[in-house]
This record gives sequence, C-alpha cells and structure tokens, in this order.
Amino acid sequence: MANRTIIELNNKIEQKTITPSQILQECSQEIDRAEDELNAFVTVLPKESLEAAKKSGKRAELGKRLSKLDGIPVGIKDVFCTKGIRTTASSKMLDDFIPIYDATVVKKITDAGAVMIGKNNCDAWAHGASTENSDYGVTKNPWDLSRVPGGSSGGSAAAVAAGECLFSIGSDTGGSIRQPAGFCGVVGLKPTYGRVSRYGLIAMGSSLDCVGPIAMTTEDVALILEVIAGHDEKDATSLNLPVPKYSDKLTKSIKGKKIGWVNEFYETGLNDEIIKALEAVREVYASLGADFIEIKLPHAKYSIPVYYLIQPAEVSSNLGRYDGIKYGHSAAKSENLIDHYFRSRDEGLGAEAKRRIMLGTFVLSAGYYDAYYKKAMQVRTLIKQDFEKAFESVDIILAPVAPTTAFKIGEKVDNPLQMYLADVFTAMVNLSGNPALSLPCAFDKQKLPIGMQLIGKHFEEETVLNFGHQYEKATEKVVWRNNKTVI
Ligand code: GLN
Repeated sequence: MANRTIIELNNKIEQKTITPSQILQECSQEIDRAEDELNAFVTVLPKESLEAAKKSGKRAELGKRLSKLDGIPVGIKDVFCTKGIRTTASSKMLDDFIPIYDATVVKKITDAGAVMIGKNNCDAWAHGASTENSDYGVTKNPWDLSRVPGGSSGGSAAAVAAGECLFSIGSDTGGSIRQPAGFCGVVGLKPTYGRVSRYGLIAMGSSLDCVGPIAMTTEDVALILEVIAGHDEKDATSLNLPVPKYSDKLTKSIKGKKIGWVNEFYETGLNDEIIKALEAVREVYASLGADFIEIKLPHAKYSIPVYYLIQPAEVSSNLGRYDGIKYGHSAAKSENLIDHYFRSRDEGLGAEAKRRIMLGTFVLSAGYYDAYYKKAMQVRTLIKQDFEKAFESVDIILAPVAPTTAFKIGEKVDNPLQMYLADVFTAMVNLSGNPALSLPCAFDKQKLPIGMQLIGKHFEEETVLNFGHQYEKATEKVVWRNNKTVI
C-alpha cells in the first residue's frame, strides 16, 4: 500500500473497485515482508484487523459506511490505551498491561470504521528523538535501514512511509510527531494543545502532550483531524470549540497571505542542504502570491533548556504511579514495601526514564524549584508571548523541522544532550501550544527526506493545512512519493 492515500482508497471503496479486506491484505503483506527488518510495531493484530475489515466491507456493500476512514488500516502508537489489547508505551514496565478502556482518540478512530492493524513502536514513554530508547528494539528508517526513523513516534512514521498502514496516530510532547514525519518523508500534525483529547494517552508531560495524525498527504491529515478533534468531557484540558471541516478549507488561495521567516533559525548549526530546501520552499510560496515578513522570536533560543526542565518535571510526576503495585512490572522479590517500590522501578524503567525522573525531581525540589522550574515557566510565558506578537503581523511561520536529516542508528544514543538538540525547532511550539504541520519538501544528497514545518495561530489548524496543501499541489512535479523506499 505504499504511495497510496486515504482519499484515493476511500473513493475506490465507494466505487466498489476495492474492498477493505483487500486493502488490509496489501498492508499485511507489507508487514510480513518488511517488519522483521523495520520493527515499526510492538504488536500486530492480524485477527482483530481481519474481523474489522470484514465488518467494514459489509457496511460498504450496504452503502452504510461510517466515514471516509471506514476500512482504512491505521497504526496506533503504543502509548494509547486500547481496550483488551496490550499497551506497553514501549517500556518493559508495562510489558503485560492490558487496558480496560480505549483512549478517546482510539475510540473515535475505530467508531469511524478505521481498521486498527497494530500498535506502533516508539521510544519508551515517548522519551526520545530516535526510537532507540524502546525496550522492544529500535525501529529503522524505511529510506535507509542504517538510520533512525526519528522519535518518539518513529514506528508510526516508518509504518506509514513503508505502506504498512495508511495512517497512524502519534503523540507530540516536544516534536515526536513532526520530527519522525520529517525523517521518514510523511506528513505529521501536532494540533493546538487542547484540540484533541489526551484521555487514555499514557502521560509524558501533561502540559505539552498533543495527539495527532501521521499520513501521506496533508489532505489525508485534514480528514483524520476532522474525526479526532473536539471537546471531550474526560479531558479537562480539551477545549469546547467547534471543529471546522478542515478538508473543505484546503483549496483556499494563499495569495496576499503573510508568512513569517525567522533569520536566526538559519544562523546556528542548521545543515546547509536544509537551508537550501527551505529557501526553495520560500520561492514556491512567493510564486503562489504569499509575502514573506521577517519576524523575531527572541526567546526561542531558550526553548531547549526550558523544555528540558519543564518536561522532566512533569515526567517525574507522571511516572510516579508506576510503583509495582497497582499495575505494571512488579519485582519478584523484595524485603519490604519501600524496597519493593525501589526494585520494581529499577527493573521496569530504562536509563532515559530514570535520567528524566532524577532531573525532574531535582528541579521540583525545595531550594531548586525557584531557580529552575519557576524560572523555566517564566521563560515559557515569554516564548508564548513571542509567538503571539509574531502572529500579529503574519498568518503562519515557516521553519525547519529538525537541524539534520535522519541520523545513523547509534550516532547520538550515548550523548543525551546531542539527542535533545534534535528538538530545537519543535519543542518551542509545544511550549507555546500552537499547531504545527511537518511535511516533506526535498531530499538531501543521501536521498533522505527533508521536512519543513508550518506553525499556525492557536486553533487555526485549517490555515496550517491550507498552506501545506497549497505547497503539495504546487510542487506535484517533484513529488516525493514517486521515490521508492528501500524497504
Ligand atoms: N524528543 C523529545 C523528547 O525526548 C520529544 C519527545 C516527544 O515529543 N514525545 O522529549
């Protein structure tokens, strides 16, 4: 199913030239062929997906399809609770955890008729930028098997790029949808914080976590967002705002619209080929009649230190519940209750989770709270205000997704600080809460995809998607999807 889109398959199901079971079969063949090498899934669901596809086929025959996603295979990042289906967060701590309820996003997607084909691999607890932190092995990049797919939603992006499913649902706390989408040459959206319910998402950083889709095109992403967005009474941070029909707004002209360009982004450590690619994007938008305005985000340069103080603080709190007693890994032997906590957590959690718990506990501790956590929260406000000010004069901001293209497996794994820098263009958007789309715009000399990022105003996903779609339409001649992945 590589190089096909949801829109295309939806039309074929409607015209009865393909059935959901046939689509599933093709995706399953890709999984059989590629999975040993790729490792994009922790769990594959052959029985459940077959049954769901058959039911979807019946609905199609009766002309009673539930939505355009009805019969379309989807991968779900293994950080979303799925009723009766193992959910590990790619950590041994939850190796045998079987949730008793569905995350809201899973419920919405399956209620719309999509066929869950499996649970995607990711960095354990979504901590990482390469999917090397998974306790279930690294996922490889389908464009070059010696490289990482990005992270933490690396399995989700790799599975879509390799045609193992047509779309996937990921989570983005500091870039985890957009960066892997960029590394794998697919499209990923981090919606505005509060746009999509987080209920049933295994929490990483609760004030930063966003749930969003990964697919082959912006059109497909718009379609998925229509299904998953909206208020959920089970998530107090989800907003009660109407959900626009995103797919109707894609074709609006962007003539006369203003795009923000941040010179500082191109001055520090950004790979030359990415700079050239973004300059070429600029020309495409200029040819569509959009104007570029130079803007400043003076506090963006603090986003990595700020993110790596606030996020571990929230991680240390959210991971506190894994004590070896309520659920999750429980040590086989222990001396007493306290010892049991220590052993269960020591055995169940990996090095990266431990690093973040220690850092987070430290910055929240008396004596250091004011100097680190509180200060970071103050700078977070300044970063948010920078965006608000910028959006007084522009409709959207164009930015890189990551400072490099997909790096080699093992290259940064022993150097957490280097790994953290992979989030330099994405984490600031989680701190400010804005929506942002990552989509492929070029290839580097090594034939690895280069991503671009479109950042929008709060709750203006439609603008971000509109700009993404206009770019895809304008550049159809050099379309990335015609290139074959290696897997
Ligand atoms: N790479 C970032 C981190 O390690 C982002 C992770 C995420 O968005 N889940 O924290």
